[in-house]
Amino acid sequence: MNAHQKIVFSHNPTSRPASAEARAEALKDPGFGKVFTDHMVTIRWALDRGWHDAQIRAREPIALDPAAAVLHYGQEIFEGLKAYNLSDGSIALFRAEQNAQRFNASAERMAMPTIPEAVFMQAVEELVKVDRAWVPKGDGSLYLRPFQFATEAFLGVRPSHEYLFVLIASSVGSYFKGGEKPVTVWLTDRYTRAAEGGTGAAKCGGNYAASLLAQAEAIENGCDQVVFLDAAQHKWVEELGGMNVFFVMDDGSLVTPPLTGTILPGITRDAILTLARAQGRAVREERYSMDQWRADAASGKLKEAFACGTAAVVAAIGKVKSAAGDIVMGDGSVGAVTAALKAQLVGIQRGDVPDPHGWVRRIG
Ligand SMILES: *Cc1c(COP(=O)(O)O)cnc(C)c1O
Repeated sequence: MNAHQKIVFSHNPTSRPASAEARAEALKDPGFGKVFTDHMVTIRWALDRGWHDAQIRAREPIALDPAAAVLHYGQEIFEGLKAYNLSDGSIALFRAEQNAQRFNASAERMAMPTIPEAVFMQAVEELVKVDRAWVPKGDGSLYLRPFQFATEAFLGVRPSHEYLFVLIASSVGSYFKGGEKPVTVWLTDRYTRAAEGGTGAAKCGGNYAASLLAQAEAIENGCDQVVFLDAAQHKWVEELGGMNVFFVMDDGSLVTPPLTGTILPGITRDAILTLARAQGRAVREERYSMDQWRADAASGKLKEAFACGTAAVVAAIGKVKSAAGDIVMGDGSVGAVTAALKAQLVGIQRGDVPDPHGWVRRIG
């Protein structure tokens, strides 16, 4: 199959969709990742057949052989993207083709088959259409979670010969419980997330599994997320557990760590870089050390810091906690540059401000 080839999806809608009342109740305060829609997409892959058996079907548990390779060796990748209800009543996707491309980059790193981008997009669009009643109005959105994993029942160590692609959707509100307040992050001096030559640039479950102990430590210390440093020197800021990071300097310039292979190339990161450059801001993709962060926050050279990713979009960082002492930035409110970039990006995503880069695509 080439990248543009489409396949036929069989439609097997659920016989027991949620009632309108149950759905309205679930959408009142959906939080993040707890409220799921009625349907899912599944597509199978086998070495001798390629992609086949594409279905839109009722969302339900998936039966797996206990020897399925993913359960033993973790061969799994995922993506995260959102569909929005625009003010004009249409539903739109934000840069979804970027997610399709990154999904395939992750697949290649994890020795998995790639999926034609057109099929990935078809899956996303068909699921959003069939579950469009689940796209929240107002501030919320429909978070789409495509993932793919090894299903072959085989305990030998080699890339699996069978895979399942699945797409589920979750109605979401705000990612962080605190809402718009700056978040506090935990600097781990014990654990690293990704090393050179590893899987840091792939969106794979294994990266998250490796980050959970540090995440638990963060939560114990009253923090929302972890800041990871580079694995070689324990010196350079890389990213948070699931978000990229930016620094705003006193001259209005932005600094973000470069994509060296150990950092996930965020689509939100790329959008922020593009918007900031278009505003005429100096933007540097260069290494920034933890010592520099401490010194610049103390001297006033560093004005703001924020994290970004699809789930939370942009989240101001108000404080870094660490065994070596805390770093406090700002006065407890969201900084002006962070707030302006967030407003512009959210405005574009919701169709409320001009979209000069053609990032938003209406699908119905
Ligand atoms: C998904 C992810 C991000 C953010 O990427 P977006 O495309 O902006 O959602 C950042 N870091 C990690 C580790 C991620 O998994």
